[in-house]
Amino acid sequence: MTAQTAQPEVRTKPDFRVGLIGQGIQQSRTPLMHMNEGAALGFVLDYQLLDTDRMDPVPSLAALLERAEAEGYAGLNITFPYKQEVMQHLDVLSDAARQVGAVNTVVFKDGKRFGHNTDFWGFATGLDWALPEVKRDCVLLMGAGGAGGAVAHALVSVGVTHLLIADVRPETAQALAAAIGDAHGITAEAVTDMAVAAVRADGIVNATPMGMAKLPGMAIAPELIEARHWVSDIVYFPLETELLRVARAKGCQTASGQGMATFQAVRAFELFTGRKPDPERMRATFESFDTQSA
Ligand code: NAD
Repeated sequence: MTAQTAQPEVRTKPDFRVGLIGQGIQQSRTPLMHMNEGAALGFVLDYQLLDTDRMDPVPSLAALLERAEAEGYAGLNITFPYKQEVMQHLDVLSDAARQVGAVNTVVFKDGKRFGHNTDFWGFATGLDWALPEVKRDCVLLMGAGGAGGAVAHALVSVGVTHLLIADVRPETAQALAAAIGDAHGITAEAVTDMAVAAVRADGIVNATPMGMAKLPGMAIAPELIEARHWVSDIVYFPLETELLRVARAKGCQTASGQGMATFQAVRAFELFTGRKPDPERMRATFESFDTQSA
């Protein structure tokens, strides 16, 4: 009698097809987080990069959305520079998407397009997970751009009652402060004197691109950081930024950009598939990139 070996199941059609629309996204860790999690839960999730930098001619965003919907995609992640533009192509917006004024996750369901902002939840959950006990009354947020907007609303959702916002473009900081004050009724102010702001703040959050491999440095002078501050950075290329290195050397509690990057994917996965992912497993996939490149 010959032994029968189990044949792996061959599936030509994935259970879920999703993707990411953006520019210059080839290094994204998000596809592997989703595909590995799908496999761990016993289904096939195909995640395509729809990188408009690699398309010639570049189709309109409307055409990309239409094509994905027609091809049966469950949904799409949306990143730079389309997070605001995509909103005009959607039927329903979540509260977070409406508040932030940006969408990073689109779900196609029952013939409708639903827009979500999982960056909001991702930052809030990541902060709770990394720094659950810290005092959050007054926070200095550096950077009021696309991600800074989501972070500002998320900070309010985790208990911040006084938000100080700094940006090299003061009008951007002022606009975000006004939006936060209107939406939540808390005190939000644009600041330019970083020394005064740092003295007032319990925590410091970087949502500028400073600290990225291509933009080394930090958006605050090192001497303004004290051991009593907690410091969070959302930059994740690299995870260990100069800001976090300086803060840790001073004895501060710190949180890296990994939390937001992982938890935005956790929430998006749940929205795409209706299944609860394992955040620890998705975090391990995210971290495996650093191990591979170490
Ligand atoms: P953006 O260009 O939309 O906004 C950046 C803002 O920072 C701008 O308003 C700019 O004027 C301001 N800025 C730049 N240098 C400054 C400085 N020295 N001091 C004060 N303000 C300064 O960019 P974005 O999309 O908001 O992204 C910002 C960073 O966040 C990027 O590094 C991005 O990779 C990272 N990010 C991380 C996650 C995550 O999941 N961890 C998610 C989104 C973005």
